[in-house]
Amino acid sequence: MEKIKNILAGGKCLKLVCGAGNEDVKEIEKLSYVYSSAGFNMIDVSAKNDILNAAISGIKRAGQGNNTALCVSVGLQEDIHLTKAVVNNIKCEMCGNCISVCPQGALFIEDNKILVDEKKCIGCSICINQCKNEAIVSEHKYKAPYAMLLPLLSEQIDCVEFHCSSSNEEHIIDSWNKILSVYNGCLSICIDRAKLSDDKVISIVKKMINTKNDIMIQADGKPMSGNSDDYKSTLQTVAFGELLRSNKIDVFLILSGGTNSKTSQLAKMCNVNINGVAIGSYARKIVKPFINSDDFFENQTLKMQAINAAKELADNILKYL
Ligand code: SF4
Ligand code: SF4
Repeated sequence: MEKIKNILAGGKCLKLVCGAGNEDVKEIEKLSYVYSSAGFNMIDVSAKNDILNAAISGIKRAGQGNNTALCVSVGLQEDIHLTKAVVNNIKCEMCGNCISVCPQGALFIEDNKILVDEKKCIGCSICINQCKNEAIVSEHKYKAPYAMLLPLLSEQIDCVEFHCSSSNEEHIIDSWNKILSVYNGCLSICIDRAKLSDDKVISIVKKMINTKNDIMIQADGKPMSGNSDDYKSTLQTVAFGELLRSNKIDVFLILSGGTNSKTSQLAKMCNVNINGVAIGSYARKIVKPFINSDDFFENQTLKMQAINAAKELADNILKYL
């Protein structure tokens, strides 16, 4: 608990989001190695033992076991972060557009059908938006949040993140209380404004933060949208952060959803007081060309190229934290 409190209180939290639905253990070990080597001090993974172990292995390879906090993500059924793409091959006309846009390389052709590698799919919906035939839908394939946590309670975790984007307040609060009943460590609330009015979001958050746990809010501007490194992409998360702060939400605040190297600078320009930045899509994208290789851990050049790309991102964010 002290490790994560120190990171957040220091106001320089750099959190790598591997993806709440990312179950590609090889990728997670590499991402954790690269970003903890580059100075990221929190790694966020799906709440499953094998995935957590992959992240721990990557952090250990980097020699950062004492400096890097581990966060596991659980979520409501209606929250996009824990969904997977499902293809209806009757509607599909094999145009291949979904394959070319998938950032995770999770779609492939076999037996003249489009299939989804569920371990790689992070539920980002990019393929769904690309398909003109409406042949792809997203489905939640996980247990209830508190039930996902139970096998992990004896593991080395520093924080549990609850993805709770929903229009159903009762469902959010009920799931939150169940998490509180089994976990007394640091909790992160990852919420966005897609399904609720600003007033409703503030009212729900105020009900949730009144616990004895240390609480961090991850203000998710536009979930899983950080593909570009510009101010426009990161505008929504800074605006959401400002809304929370101006409503006197006085807990640790992290920005996510469209985050990139410009996020902390924009937050500073807007006088939004944050404790750190969480980066998923953009962070994964910039190291992908280096970590895809099977011999990554044996290849010094690839390792250095990946760490340098991650370090440049870290430096740009830290400059304004
Ligand atoms: S984009 Fe739609 S129609 Fe095209 S291959 Fe993918 S699922 Fe099939
Ligand atoms: S585009 Fe996103 S939702 Fe679709 S298969 Fe790839 S990772 Fe999954």
